[in-house]
Amino acid sequence: MISDKMKALVEQSSVIRAMFEEGKNMAKLYGAENVFDFSLGNPSVNPPAQIKEAINYVVNEEDENLVHGYMNNSGYEDVRKAVAASLNSKFGTNFSYENILMTVGAAGGLNVIFKTLLNPGDEVVAFAPFFGEYRNYVSNFDGKLVVVAPDTKTFMPDMEGLREAITKKTKIVLINTPNNPTGVIYGDATLKELAKVLDEKSKEIGEPIYLIADEPYRELAYDGVEVPYVTKYYANTIVGYSYSKSLSLPGERIGYLVIPSEITGSKEIISAAGVANRILGFVNAPSLIQRVVGRCLDVQVDVDIYNRNRELLYNSLTEYGYECVKPQGAFYLFVKSFDMDDKEFVAMAKKKNILVVPGSSFGCPGYVRIAYCVDYDMIKRSLKGFEELARECNK
Ligand code: PLP
Repeated sequence: MISDKMKALVEQSSVIRAMFEEGKNMAKLYGAENVFDFSLGNPSVNPPAQIKEAINYVVNEEDENLVHGYMNNSGYEDVRKAVAASLNSKFGTNFSYENILMTVGAAGGLNVIFKTLLNPGDEVVAFAPFFGEYRNYVSNFDGKLVVVAPDTKTFMPDMEGLREAITKKTKIVLINTPNNPTGVIYGDATLKELAKVLDEKSKEIGEPIYLIADEPYRELAYDGVEVPYVTKYYANTIVGYSYSKSLSLPGERIGYLVIPSEITGSKEIISAAGVANRILGFVNAPSLIQRVVGRCLDVQVDVDIYNRNRELLYNSLTEYGYECVKPQGAFYLFVKSFDMDDKEFVAMAKKKNILVVPGSSFGCPGYVRIAYCVDYDMIKRSLKGFEELARECNK
């Protein structure tokens, strides 16, 4: 009974989600302490204490009709003002509330902006490895995802590959930094180079190419590495942000888009994106949590907890012979599956009750993603299995 398009989507349905379900079943079979589930990017660190305080404040002190009612499709004006002011003070930008559109997480934001910008057949260029859902989001609006092959030495964007990927149909280039699944952060030099290519190519094709920066991991950076603000590098940049990871609120579905006034067609895009938010059925981002994050803009989860996991896992795995670029941000390790097929490696890992996701789900076979947003002790318990696995793979 379901549509042909949906049939295909169900068949390829998320490997990550399937793993997560499998992990729960395995925990019932073997006992939770004997299953090492590194499959899902579900934050393990508690939301900051200020979230509970803000929820209590909003629920107890604010007007109920305001807290639970409809508002402008783009979100509460006071919350958008606070978001703009916070960005301006952090990054020296000049946004007003009109540049901010509150969304149903980063996923909602990406769907809104794709609906706003894409005609059927328009191309969205992404760099492998990439968050697998991008493929579905682009397909929702009959766009075409064009993938630039990975530079597996650094996992930084391959500029030559980008030049070759851009055609007259390119409407969007999509980046994600700090990156899921590699943890790399695009620094100043990379963004300058990227902007140069996009400026040249926009001129060449005679149409603006929009750069969309998907930034749910912005706040998760280690060793003091700076995450540059992308609008400062390239004029036609739109930012998608989410509180799912920075405040550990993934189930609440809250984030925002920044659509700067400097982008080509800004007024039209801002107004169309508000309509897209409504007619996609989101109507507006959830009201209560909008008001809550509006009061918590300068707080974030305790990143040291993820950093401790990162150090333990990275140091242990590299000692056992795994190859991996040390992640600077997010909460993933992207590890080579030795000389094995990644899906075969995942199956072998499962025999040791270790659940990881094949790189092919991110457009990068030959690697696996290990999400370390988990309990530190679970990592410790899993190490013996990882060590044995390395030995078996290298026999
Ligand atoms: N983009 C990337 C790169 C992600 O990793 C995720 C979630 O893991 C999302 C977008 C979606 O995030 P949200 O929960 O904010 O919709």
